Amino acid sequence: MHHGIKKLLLLGVGHAHVQVLAQLARHRPADLDVTVLTPYPFQTYSGMVPGLVAGRYSASECQIPLEPLVKAAGARWVQGRCTGLDLAQQTVQLDAAGGNKAAPASLPYHLLSIDTGAIIDRQRLEADMPGAAAHALIVRPIESFAALWPQVLELAQKQAVSLAVIGSGAAGIELVFAAEQCLRRQGLPGASFTLITGGGDPAANYPEGVRRRVLRQLKRRGITVLREVCTGVDKGLVQLGSGASLACDVPILAIGTHAPVWLQGSGLALSESGHVLVNACQQSSSHPNVFAAGDVASRADTPHPKSGVYAVRAGPPLTHNLMAAHQGQPLKAWHPPQRTLNLLSCGAGHAIASWGPLHTEGAWVWRWKDRIDRAFMARYTLPAA
Ligand SMILES: Cc1cc2nc3c(=O)[nH]c(=O)nc-3n(C[C@H](O)[C@H](O)[C@H](O)COP(=O)(O)OP(=O)(O)OC[C@H]3O[C@@H](n4cnc5c(N)ncnc54)[C@H](O)[C@@H]3O)c2cc1C
Repeated sequence: MHHGIKKLLLLGVGHAHVQVLAQLARHRPADLDVTVLTPYPFQTYSGMVPGLVAGRYSASECQIPLEPLVKAAGARWVQGRCTGLDLAQQTVQLDAAGGNKAAPASLPYHLLSIDTGAIIDRQRLEADMPGAAAHALIVRPIESFAALWPQVLELAQKQAVSLAVIGSGAAGIELVFAAEQCLRRQGLPGASFTLITGGGDPAANYPEGVRRRVLRQLKRRGITVLREVCTGVDKGLVQLGSGASLACDVPILAIGTHAPVWLQGSGLALSESGHVLVNACQQSSSHPNVFAAGDVASRADTPHPKSGVYAVRAGPPLTHNLMAAHQGQPLKAWHPPQRTLNLLSCGAGHAIASWGPLHTEGAWVWRWKDRIDRAFMARYTLPAA
């Protein structure tokens, strides 16, 4: 049992940790020393990135500045990236980021909380899809993707581009609609758009009615759907499972994500897919002083899809349980909802809503999504000190 000041280390500032910081800003126990390790001075809100691509939002509208939030929480920010865990020593290894020369090699903790999101593991990607790591524009990390998107626009000003999005989950679908809308609005003729689904229908994990709506919108906007697996990417070419290849200037990779490599072999209990295995209190199944939420975690009791919606929902129980663990109070279990509201944008101005088997679409749905997204941003965007 540790007495005196306790060190809480927050890894990453994803959807759940912004809420932890906001709560600490309201009340931080005097005996809690909080450090935040995260690579960027802002948190990019992925739900608004398709709107950035569509030209509807500026980069700063999609970013929560972290410095004011960290400061209000009375925490210390270390600009860096976690690279390993030593659970016996209760330390986290890190690489400095953003030219942070003062970053230590490791950080100690008594209580650790992980909300670093999911990644695309470049090595695994290279094995599954040779050439993709070198030639495709990958949506993770989302910060790099958002920073590189303007280069696609520059290219499109010089030539008629062919753009293909590989992956037809929510992110891939939203991005292909957004890219098409952006280039069409800019009056860049000759551009072509393709969605490579991985074999099945676009939005395969949505109900039939939503799939139909998505297909209708894709057709209406002249986006070609290829029900094919992508097997590799070369410069200017996407290789397909059928043996055919697609000429493509801008391949955008929006496939399913992987668990962070640095978790593997750490000794922390992990799910089969390598994510932090947590119980109903978002607490590690193997290490009671470690918590995790968002895409980096997997619930042992009620596995649920990895999405921003669930990451947001995990924020309040994570906050509660971190404070309870600090104070030696009992933790509270929470139960993720079986159904969530899904809002799929088809470019800025039109979206499809679904909740369980119910679905609808229209401009009003997009305005609804816009309001929800902006409200989330406003809640955590504090004025610069
Ligand atoms: C284009 C796109 C659109 C999407 N739209 C939606 C949507 O509309 N609705 C929805 O529910 N889901 C959506 N998603 C999925 C959603 O982005 C994720 O499920 C969500 O971001 C997960 O949140 P998180 O808190 O786990 O992590 P993230 O939001 O990814 O945050 C992780 C944080 O950790 C930091 N970090 C990363 N690695 C490290 C490290 N090693 N050390 C320290 N810090 C680290 C990152 O910089 C970041 O600040 C979308 C995804 C994409 C790509």
